[in-house]
Amino acid sequence: MTNLLSIGECMVELAPRADGAFAMNFAGDTFNTAWYAARTAPKGLTVSYLSAVGDDALSVRMADFMAQAGITPVLARRPGRSVGLYMISLKDGERSFSYWRDTSAARSLADDLDVLPGLKAGDMAYFSGITMAILSDAARERLLSALTRARAAGVTVTFDPNLRPRLWPDMDTMRHWITRAAEVCDIALPSYEDEAVHFGDADPAGTADRYSRAGAGVVVVKNGAEAVLLRTPQGDTQIAPPKIAKVVDTTAAGDSFNAGFLVGILSGEDAATATHRACALAAQVVQHPGALVPV
Ligand code: AMP
Repeated sequence: MTNLLSIGECMVELAPRADGAFAMNFAGDTFNTAWYAARTAPKGLTVSYLSAVGDDALSVRMADFMAQAGITPVLARRPGRSVGLYMISLKDGERSFSYWRDTSAARSLADDLDVLPGLKAGDMAYFSGITMAILSDAARERLLSALTRARAAGVTVTFDPNLRPRLWPDMDTMRHWITRAAEVCDIALPSYEDEAVHFGDADPAGTADRYSRAGAGVVVVKNGAEAVLLRTPQGDTQIAPPKIAKVVDTTAAGDSFNAGFLVGILSGEDAATATHRACALAAQVVQHPGALVPV
């Protein structure tokens, strides 16, 4: 058995329905990746999710949702706390998001983290810039130390910078911790559009250069409908995503892309084949509304 351990925050999502009521779902960047990985994993690949939840009914429901989705929950319980929440508002077809996550239990996910559970050589750990953003400085150090030790023991560490300035106190702090996280990963999965804005990269090759310099052996630079730049020790390859006539909702495009890529690599595919798999999965997701689309 090979294990993919995704690390971060899953939240309650309230999504508007046509009748004016709200549907309750569960979502969050690293969780979405775990969910798509579990749905598309071949036999022999297990997916688990590391986070922290409270001890209320909603936290229990979230853990049940994970288990039912085929994801092994690895959840620290924080008495008296609860999970984060976001609500989607729709105006003239445009979605906007309101968040209540400042006191979520997930912020403490690495407070007492020592060893990443259930991982052995050949397994994979996955985390994101959002995972880093919600933690205290001390917890960020703990998480990076645990990832570094896992990597030394033969675990492949993968990282999506997922730059979200609103979650960070300021840009320098964001850039500092994203760079620190990049230094512990084997595979980086940045999105060019965000990286250009916040790191000033002139083109996708500039983004790949920065993550290669930090130490990532494989860098996959996503770029919306444009070609993905795949950098491996063998060189650079451009891989065009499928052309889509009507994009409905790009929520979780990057998260599902990452799931496709990681499942491909863990299945023994080469990086180019895994990138094609990633593009095909994300193409399905952007043609349907919502974060978690049955694929
Ligand atoms: P992004 O994070 O926006 O760069 O998107 C992640 C991935 O989702 C891309 O690398 C594509 O594979 C896919 N994707 C996003 N938007 C589109 C689109 N308009 N057409 C085709 N694929 C897309």
